[in-house]
Amino acid sequence: MTNGLFGAIEGGGTKFVCAVGTADGQILVETRFPTTTPDETLGRAIQFFQEQSTTFGKLSSLGIACFGPLDPTPSSPTYGHILATPKPGWTGADVVGQMRAALALPIGFDTDVNGAALGEARWGAAQGLSTFLYFTIGTGIGGGAMVEGKLLHGLIHPEMGHVLLPHDTVRDPFPGICPFHGDCFEGLASGPALEKRWGQRAETLPTDHPAWKLEAHYVALAMAGFICAFSPQRIILGGGVPQQPHLLPMVRTETLALLANYIQAEEILDHIERYIVPPGLGGRAGIAGAVALAQQALEEA
Ligand code: ADP
Ligand code: ZN
Repeated sequence: MTNGLFGAIEGGGTKFVCAVGTADGQILVETRFPTTTPDETLGRAIQFFQEQSTTFGKLSSLGIACFGPLDPTPSSPTYGHILATPKPGWTGADVVGQMRAALALPIGFDTDVNGAALGEARWGAAQGLSTFLYFTIGTGIGGGAMVEGKLLHGLIHPEMGHVLLPHDTVRDPFPGICPFHGDCFEGLASGPALEKRWGQRAETLPTDHPAWKLEAHYVALAMAGFICAFSPQRIILGGGVPQQPHLLPMVRTETLALLANYIQAEEILDHIERYIVPPGLGGRAGIAGAVALAQQALEEA
């Protein structure tokens, strides 16, 4: 007998959040610790869930919404592993294998942003929608996609933070910080890119600083491209950087300008403020998403 509760891991490049959640996405107990080596980090997660089973009884399943790149394809020999990553020690880490061996639970495993998208579909700003996108703009930039009711994987999984955008090097000579591409979306518009370009943390840049117009420009270029590519019914912008309240209105205005009335949808033309939105779950989108992945694993088991 299981207890109707779900284990959830939001595995980030800097920190791991582990939690126990209910069927409606409420978090009952949560812990967080820094991401160090795979053995140490996954070991702490295992210890947390073992302790929780002593308190709550056996969990129904576990959801892991993890930094990538990762292998989300169950039929693949490297399913559940982290793929080649600059993060020291993590290339090839068998996240799902280690958790399953220790906890013997059904496991749902996906990217952090696909997880957050699923959480937003169940309990947040994407309820009732079948095709939408979820982005985080923080330490990195990543995008998750739900398409016709299913999280999109395809070949591996989307890497929407690494699309290349038009970069006017006269207006913005900053070369970008992506170790792979330099001036891709993440290289130009992540939190660390803002910090490196302007010499101060994004949180400390004043509202009227030119940084924000440029940031809105890059985010809008990406949004206009993804709107054309996916025809999403909504786009959710999560992560630290969009928490600047003046940024989203600027992104909406510029996205409209870039689309130039081409996409004839009321949702965009008349209600852009309901089309490009913050997460309904706020800062809980990531961990609630992991709970949703756990539930999905059980539904599909
Ligand atoms: P992570 O991506 O590591 O999970 P965040 O989404 O908070 O965490 O991203 C951290 C990055 O976002 C940092 O570069 C930080 O400067 C920037 N950031 C965080 N909060 C804000 C904020 N309120 N306004 C602007 N930038 C922020
Ligand atoms: Zn890149």
